[in-house]
Amino acid sequence: MLPKFTIIAATTALMGLGTVASAESCLEVTLTGTQGGPPVFQGQAGSGTLVTYGTQENKCRDVLLQFDTGRGTTQQLSKIGVPAGKVTAVFFTHIHSDHSEGLADLMQLRWHFNSGGPKVDVVCHQDAKSGAGHTMSCEKFAAHIGDALIHSGEMAQRLAENPKRLPGGPADLLNVSTFGPSQAPAVVWEKGDVTVSAISSRHVAGHASYRVDTPAGSVVIGGDAGNDAAAPPRDTSTSSQVELLAKDADILVHSVIHPVMGPLGTTGFPPPIYYRQSTATDLGSLAARAGIDNLMYTHLIPPLGAPRQGPYPLPAPLTADDYVGSAREGGFEGNVVVGADLAKLRLTAE
Ligand SMILES: [Zn+2]
Ligand SMILES: [Zn+2]
Repeated sequence: MLPKFTIIAATTALMGLGTVASAESCLEVTLTGTQGGPPVFQGQAGSGTLVTYGTQENKCRDVLLQFDTGRGTTQQLSKIGVPAGKVTAVFFTHIHSDHSEGLADLMQLRWHFNSGGPKVDVVCHQDAKSGAGHTMSCEKFAAHIGDALIHSGEMAQRLAENPKRLPGGPADLLNVSTFGPSQAPAVVWEKGDVTVSAISSRHVAGHASYRVDTPAGSVVIGGDAGNDAAAPPRDTSTSSQVELLAKDADILVHSVIHPVMGPLGTTGFPPPIYYRQSTATDLGSLAARAGIDNLMYTHLIPPLGAPRQGPYPLPAPLTADDYVGSAREGGFEGNVVVGADLAKLRLTAE
């Protein structure tokens, strides 16, 4: 059994942490990017969550795990004092660009200054073939992460001025391991007291959801998971696999779509894309059923205050209260964090 926890920071926006130095272990969850899908809005970073674990003296930063690396991840990490060279491992929920395009930036920077290592573990679902016939391959994405820079000649130029850099470019610094398909949570990564489990979940081929367990608490990263039934009629829009993974977890971080984007509304948002995400209301219900204490909405579709989601106009911009209201409507009475970039929660082992 895990010890009891205290949440020492929780809010719906950016926050500072009042920390007391101690050797107690702690788990920190920071939303590095909360943009939902490929659009841009007011500089929000692309989807990503940093989960760190360690002692309070070390700001909970003995182990640094980055789940998804949307655009701007490296900049967001720099705002909270996490250098590119310090990330221990990167996990991908899926390789849609809004979750993955920041890896090239992160790894190029790391190759430039940290070619001596250590390598970064990249953990993701094995190649998966879709019903339409294409294959989603995280392995190939990682293997080719520096290709544009190799073909442009930049790699050769930089190697000529510093031959200590790795000759194959940023991909040489990745240590890729794949898993799945798995219909039950399976351990995919471990280090000391930190265990990461994964399960295959539905959104696009090769999508996975993760759970991190530590002595200070547990967090589930749902990603863009949706229900196995691609469209109604169905009981819920949420993923049964995420629900299994999330049982009695302390924190659930999940991509969210507000019902205003649904086919009953006026936005014209494509129903198949709406249906493959989990709604704010249904995530509230899932969190209540799973016994979650803290629900962190990220990858907000639409963003707070946005007049439109990409090309799809809203009747009115949404507020954080609109998302919290949906969670309550779904029956969730715990803490709701409506993601702004760099919102964070910390759990401490008592
Ligand atoms: Zn996405
Ligand atoms: Zn996606």
